[in-house]
Amino acid sequence: MEDDSATHKEVSAQELKELRDKAERFDRLTHYVPALLYDYIIDADGKSHCLYCNDYSLILLGVPPEAFMADMDHFWKMIHPDDLQQFRERDLRVNRDEDTFFMDTRVLLETGQEKWIRVSSTRTPSRGDEPVIWSGYMIDISETKRLETLLREQATHDALTGLGNRHDFQRHFREELSRRDRYQRASAVLLLDLDHFKKVNDRYGHDAGDFVLKRVSQLIQDQLRAVDVPARWGGEEFCILLPETGLEEALAAAERIRAGLAREPLDYQEGEIPITVSIGVTTLRPDDHRIEDVIKRADAALYRAKREGRNRVAHD
Ligand code: GH3
Ligand code: MG
Ligand code: MG
Repeated sequence: MEDDSATHKEVSAQELKELRDKAERFDRLTHYVPALLYDYIIDADGKSHCLYCNDYSLILLGVPPEAFMADMDHFWKMIHPDDLQQFRERDLRVNRDEDTFFMDTRVLLETGQEKWIRVSSTRTPSRGDEPVIWSGYMIDISETKRLETLLREQATHDALTGLGNRHDFQRHFREELSRRDRYQRASAVLLLDLDHFKKVNDRYGHDAGDFVLKRVSQLIQDQLRAVDVPARWGGEEFCILLPETGLEEALAAAERIRAGLAREPLDYQEGEIPITVSIGVTTLRPDDHRIEDVIKRADAALYRAKREGRNRVAHD
């Protein structure tokens, strides 16, 4: 018989203390770090089995850690339907070819609350024949996403009218240029400038001027199709991109907007503010590559409409 003490090393008091310290640190970290920490293995059938999940699953997902560990489908079922396919595809690809999964996704909690979460996990080095363990975290990024959406909105939209701004229009225009190159599509651009707008400010006040700009933006939008792209080009100038539109149709759309505004004055407080608009129209040509050239033509037509008496439509 072999002596046990020869093969089993005695655990010293020092080692025991180190083990206890490590365990305490693990408990502290997993309890206080504001993140769902977990690890799991994938079996031969491709099903995930959770090995560990900390208490934060209850805070983040409203799912107790025991439930999360018992069945990882608890999590899969919470992924927002619009994000699920992308999540699945990325998960499959990473399991097959990569070492790190990383994705921001929306989840729907049982309470109906929607959250944005960041999910990331890493394949830990495998030990011999043992199954690969993936270790990961999930954190709440709802506030970051809210700010991101707000900043994007502010960067691309005009605060007064809610219309897209010049920057946003230019992006749409570039997309339209590439569609034209691919499909030889016709499209038109309208440039609008309110007539004698300075007088509106002078006579009714700047707030009334702002009110007119908002109302006019709404009236313009009411006349457009969902595919059209209106933008606030500058002070009291608007630009509209009309995809799939030839000159005749573009002139008709411009005329609808002009006549709609001229038809009746805008109600403002106790009074009324008459407003008219001049519109320059141009269509996209095969050799147009720069927005500046197209705007220049629309602007020349607009200038002509102004010179010929305002409250009219002209084309290049
Ligand atoms: P025209 O028929 O030749 O276009 O005359 P106009 O008076 O409209 O011409 P102009 O472009 O010289 O004046 C535009 C005015 O629009 C000047 C500016 O005070 C006013 N404006 C520009 N942006 C705003 C805004 O955000 N709010 C208000 N209330 N007024 C604005
Ligand atoms: Mg102007
Ligand atoms: Mg003007």
